[in-house]
Amino acid sequence: MRTFYRGIVLLIGLCAMALQGTAAAELSKKERAEIRRFAANNSLFVLYHEIAHLLVDQLNLPVLGREEDAADNMATGLC
Ligand SMILES: [Zn+2]
Repeated sequence: MRTFYRGIVLLIGLCAMALQGTAAAELSKKERAEIRRFAANNSLFVLYHEIAHLLVDQLNLPVLGREEDAADNMATGLC
């Protein structure tokens, strides 16, 4: 459960960084949109990755190999 909260905190931090970039005024509208999309997609990946850890832990899902790889695979499948 602790990793889930860490993921939420990371997600909030990434969103804040994306919204408050100090150099944002120097970028074009298209560049800002790309940065927002990059941050949003990575934030979603982190959120899904941490939810995968939560599901493995809470539902006692069997994991073949490393749990980190399983969480990455689950997150990639959802993004
Ligand atoms: Zn992980």
